Amino acid sequence: MNDRKTLDERQQMTDLERLRHSCAHIMATAILRIWPDAQFAYGPPVENGFYYDFDMPHRITPEDFEKIEAEMRKIAKDNQKFERRVLTRADAQAMAASGRLGGLTERPGNPSRFKLDLIDKIPEGEEISCFQNGDFIDLCAGPHVGYTSKCKNVKLMSVSASFYLGDESKGQLQRLYGTAFESKELLEEHLHRLEEAKKRDHRRLGREMGLFHIDEMVGQGLVLWKPKGALVRRALQEFITAELDKQGYSQVFTPHIGKLDLYRTSGHFPYYQESQYPAIAERDVLEKLADEDASCATLINGLSDGTYEGYLLKPMNCPHHIRIFASDHHSYRDLPVRLAEFGTVYRWEQSGELGGMTRVRGFTQDDAHLFCTPEQVAAEVTGCLDLVKKVLSTLGMNDDRVRLSLRDPASDKYVGSAENWDKAEASLREAVQTLGCEYTEEIGEAAFYGPKIDFVVKDVIGRDWQLGTVQVDYNLPVRFGLSYVGADNQPHIPVMIHRAPFGSMERFTGLLIEHFEGKFPTWLAPEQVRVLPISEKTLDTAEAATAKLADAGVRVTIDRSPDKIGAKIRTARLERVPYMLVIGAREAEDGTVSVRHRDHDDLGAKPLAEFISNITAEIRSRSL
Ligand SMILES: [Zn+2]
Ligand SMILES: [Zn+2]
Repeated sequence: MNDRKTLDERQQMTDLERLRHSCAHIMATAILRIWPDAQFAYGPPVENGFYYDFDMPHRITPEDFEKIEAEMRKIAKDNQKFERRVLTRADAQAMAASGRLGGLTERPGNPSRFKLDLIDKIPEGEEISCFQNGDFIDLCAGPHVGYTSKCKNVKLMSVSASFYLGDESKGQLQRLYGTAFESKELLEEHLHRLEEAKKRDHRRLGREMGLFHIDEMVGQGLVLWKPKGALVRRALQEFITAELDKQGYSQVFTPHIGKLDLYRTSGHFPYYQESQYPAIAERDVLEKLADEDASCATLINGLSDGTYEGYLLKPMNCPHHIRIFASDHHSYRDLPVRLAEFGTVYRWEQSGELGGMTRVRGFTQDDAHLFCTPEQVAAEVTGCLDLVKKVLSTLGMNDDRVRLSLRDPASDKYVGSAENWDKAEASLREAVQTLGCEYTEEIGEAAFYGPKIDFVVKDVIGRDWQLGTVQVDYNLPVRFGLSYVGADNQPHIPVMIHRAPFGSMERFTGLLIEHFEGKFPTWLAPEQVRVLPISEKTLDTAEAATAKLADAGVRVTIDRSPDKIGAKIRTARLERVPYMLVIGAREAEDGTVSVRHRDHDDLGAKPLAEFISNITAEIRSRSL
């Protein structure tokens, strides 16, 4: 059994896991009161709750949950004691054979078949024990809470199919999931968060709002940005670009593929092959090998060992940027060189892991590589942290923290001198401290080529999102033979900093969709204003207003449908358009518009010019 906990691991179960596992016993008790023949297999605590796998003819559906929960509440109210008993192997086997283990009574003709198998899997010499609450006796090493009354804040969540210990050949079981907390408040908070998360799910909102599409015909994990999603991304990229310009970055563009030799030099190939799309062989190599009737193995081995040349869809932007840096001579006076690109990279993720914009196979990093002297590392890292702070606070995400990954001084797996590491680690720590945000230091978590900072933000409903990183790198400049001329007129090796603080545009946009529940602030909204003529009679005035808004740079559309005004407002709100401008006969006559905001209802009539000046100021200041 691969997920069977050792006795040691069981002793380390947290109080909450203990509570949740105890709830699994109570759930089994409740199920048996309704379906006495159920055969229970395995019921561990898991992240956010617990489950129990079992087999019985009745297929549990969510309609059964209330009935089962009602029994569970009774058992909690009865305040049964969880009693542990040590069994000899023979006793345990006899109890299982009689159907008593994982049952409320002996069940002649219905032996506890999974428990029999589990007993066989307990190593010789390990204590075998059972736990009893009320009539229910289960084979279990524990630990448990003392009494069932602790388990009253519980909720059944979902049911799915499973296999006994993950083995498909052993037939299908039912897996019923539940969650439990120490208090009613904590349970309710958790359920509320789940509800919110469902409401905010970027996959659903992305579809409803027409932001992006993932198309089977294009490929799994390959995001198609639809026009509205592309507008959000553009606004975001323009914002980040403006900040990079202020900080002295230079923007570059590089191709989506590169020669295998490039990645052999960087070390990305042939290592990490399992996380890359396979290499692309050159045409004449393929033709030659085809003529020779060669095998795939010949091709793959030849590409890996460099006999044949080929290309790789780029898994990283760094090598391209390095070659840009290397294409010029540099003096210490030119440093730092900061090359930025919204660079698209490709990674091979297992298909089971893909979903929406957060796990993808092609994504665009807000990437940059800084080439600097060792003395400049601290200032560059500080600049990068400032940028992150600015962007996150503009988006209303003020709950962020960083993880500082340092080397393990006892290990010898790191490249670069101890002196440089000390300096880099000190400057990263200093930069983080100056920023004044919460941080943790993780010894031994640094990459072999340098220390790094990872960003984590909390969204409005309290979930952590891992963003991107800042990494110091002593390795690639050496591998690529980079140098600059120092003040001493001698060649020196620059330090390289990789930074993609928001990770990828896909993931970051997914986060923003959920954070705002699709209600983007005006500056980010794909459609900022919708003009709603009340009838045909005011259509011309509405068209003229639309043209004026577009002229002022506002993203505006007009609803020309024959719908009643109430329906038009409803549609616009559903599509989360920040402003609706209603134009009826009176407004047409006065040269005004009736302004409605998706969140604040009626803002009254305003001259069109005044509205335009307000909204353009709001967009320019990127207010929330
Ligand atoms: Zn147990
Ligand atoms: Zn990089």
